[in-house]
Amino acid sequence: MPSRSIPSVEQAYELFSEDPWRPLSEWAKEWDCSHERVRQLREQAGFDPISSIDRNIARTVIDRVRNGEYALTVRELYEDLPIGLEKFLTWMKEDPAIYLGILEAQQWVEKQSWSPETKQCKKCGEVLKAESFGKTQKYKDGLQKICKLCVSNPSKKLVEIQEKQKKLQQLKNKLDN
Ligand SMILES: [Zn+2]
Repeated sequence: MPSRSIPSVEQAYELFSEDPWRPLSEWAKEWDCSHERVRQLREQAGFDPISSIDRNIARTVIDRVRNGEYALTVRELYEDLPIGLEKFLTWMKEDPAIYLGILEAQQWVEKQSWSPETKQCKKCGEVLKAESFGKTQKYKDGLQKICKLCVSNPSKKLVEIQEKQKKLQQLKNKLDN
């Protein structure tokens, strides 16, 4: 028995046009019908099949991953988009260009974490080019945490300590002689 709350094709056309990104599941809930019924109605009303890929949305997802904003599987990435992770994964399967776009974006993010172009100095707080930091094997990105300038201009406290050490060394030398 058809539910009374399901709109006609004409009514559905208007509703879908007013709110094109509303998930099918929400319509299904409102109309008390199946997801599949909403999908059929949507196609009867002349809309593209829901599986058709939206390039702009795909681009947005790829850009967000590339920016390092979110990982592909993080729900928040899709919060303001009309698709979710599951839908995007089907797009990746359907379209090699999207798959490769994501792959490239993920590799870019990984490369950035290993060899960043810029880095914030832990001491002066400045964001500087990678060349401004000395190299070290100690950290993942291969760079010191404190910039070269800060290293060559030690703080007052460090100078005091160094001077104390120098005096101690001189004293020790005297005692040894
Ligand atoms: Zn610094």
